[in-house]
Amino acid sequence: MCGIIGYIGEKNPVEVLINGLKCLEYRGYDSAGIALKEKDEIEVIKSVGKIVNLEEKIKSQEIMESHLGIAHTRWATHGKPTEENAHPHTVGKVTLVHNGIIENAEELREKLKKEGVTFYSETDTEVVAALINKYDKDNPIEAIEKALKEVTGSYALGILFQESEDLYAVRKDSPLIIGLGKNENFIASDIAAIIDYTNKYLLLEEREIAHITKEKVEIIKDKKVIGKEVQTTNLERDAKDKNGYEHYMLKEIMEEPVVLEKTFKPYLENLDNLPDLTDYEEIHVVACGSAMYAGMIGKTLLEEYANTKVEIDVASEYRYKNIIYDRKTLVILISQSGETADTIAAMRKAKENNVDTLAIVNVKTSTIARESDSQIFIEAGPEIAVATTKAYILQVGIMALLAYKTALTKGLVKENEKVLQEAEKLPRLIKEVLDRREEYKKIAKGIYNKEDIFFIGRKIDYATSQEGSLKLKEVSYIHSEAYQAGELKHGTISLIEDGMPVFAIVTDDTIKDKTVSNIEEVKSRGAKTIIISNESWENQKLQIVVPKISPYFQPILIVPTLQLIAYETAKLRGCDIDKPKNLAKSVTVE
Ligand code: GLU
Repeated sequence: MCGIIGYIGEKNPVEVLINGLKCLEYRGYDSAGIALKEKDEIEVIKSVGKIVNLEEKIKSQEIMESHLGIAHTRWATHGKPTEENAHPHTVGKVTLVHNGIIENAEELREKLKKEGVTFYSETDTEVVAALINKYDKDNPIEAIEKALKEVTGSYALGILFQESEDLYAVRKDSPLIIGLGKNENFIASDIAAIIDYTNKYLLLEEREIAHITKEKVEIIKDKKVIGKEVQTTNLERDAKDKNGYEHYMLKEIMEEPVVLEKTFKPYLENLDNLPDLTDYEEIHVVACGSAMYAGMIGKTLLEEYANTKVEIDVASEYRYKNIIYDRKTLVILISQSGETADTIAAMRKAKENNVDTLAIVNVKTSTIARESDSQIFIEAGPEIAVATTKAYILQVGIMALLAYKTALTKGLVKENEKVLQEAEKLPRLIKEVLDRREEYKKIAKGIYNKEDIFFIGRKIDYATSQEGSLKLKEVSYIHSEAYQAGELKHGTISLIEDGMPVFAIVTDDTIKDKTVSNIEEVKSRGAKTIIISNESWENQKLQIVVPKISPYFQPILIVPTLQLIAYETAKLRGCDIDKPKNLAKSVTVE
């Protein structure tokens, strides 16, 4: 969500900044802007919509030469996505870009207005610029410190001062790293934006201020300069290329077999590499979006096969609820980026209550990875498409292994169950499922011009349905809903009309017959059913049959089919598949 990049050095900042913004595009945005600085002159150029619009605007005018600049892609939280609201914002001698939300912006705005400040945008960001400008008396660090004392909320800021030749940055609850080059330095929302120039960086912690020149980076905490360990990323430069695929989403789905094998390796070698959940009386799973649906699969497996009590909640609710921690509890947080603001807040809530936290996360340097008590890393590599695919599959995979290990520890596994052997077969089986694209294209052709679609299933198949429905609406913008198959008749079945597609997921043998009745109910009301199952169905025209595998892993073979159907449908509708409208990759605001 939102991208920040800043540059100081010998190169042309326009190229570095635009290139950086493009690498951050996947995070989601609605407008973009850039500020260049040379001596005491600052030039700001902004535009709404895609980065190409900004690029064209820059090309169409004469731009001053400079060696310092900041740039931003905005995901609007305060005020419409207009040019006035786009960043950078300038007040007096201060120009800055911001990611996050200033919670007391209105109160500060009123106060500053009374002091004579005029505001030109509706953003919360402009208020921060005004505050820093108010305290700017030849000492930028002091001005930043004083201003931020008055601010509540989240921020990553890249700041230019008219009277300084240097670049400044600070963060709280929003990501920002400092890239280290030779005679050049950077700030960026994540490493992808600067990987073309350097693989070395510093992690900026909460409220630390960075003072950056082209030769040097100083990190200031509580008025003192502190030492920092230099980090090196092993992200490969070409990892963010599409490898010949038309979209990142497709490329990332196709990577599922490889990343699953890599993620499972240490655990298939030795299950003791996974934490022991039997130490706890209760498990809370907390996440957002697809990660939460991965958690739903975990909850179902833990309850069904490991007899373990699991509560699940979306992080935006959990963080504000009265959670009763009266039993020995473990909170499992699932987040691809590890920067999801609501999930971070849920984690901190658990920690404040002295409750253990376990993170299932992709980005090893992220806030959740750093602050949680223990971590299981999925090895998805960079995921660029906004709609998650491979990371979701890995989150499900880890939850499945945790459920299996718990069942094993509790002595609940039957002798004839060969779960780990099944796990080893998974990469090959996923590949088999992925190779059947023609079947998914055919299904997509039948649904792409529909307005409403249902996904139904029971128990684990309901959890799988939820992700299928979410993926479809995220990328194709078709309204869809996932329903517990047995619940439909309690109201929602009134919406079923002639020709309405209903996907039925049927893999769980213990409940199959009941789902079959529900399929008949919607069929008799005119629905066009598409059955996704692990066995073939007689007299059923539209069906996708995936290999049958241990129930722990069955969703891992079902979901790729739903991901590819969503992808093909979005493609037929001409959607912006990798960057769906209104969405952001790592949701770093509340
Ligand atoms: N809250 C700020 C705005 O609406 C920044 C949003 C962002 O993170 O892009 O302008």
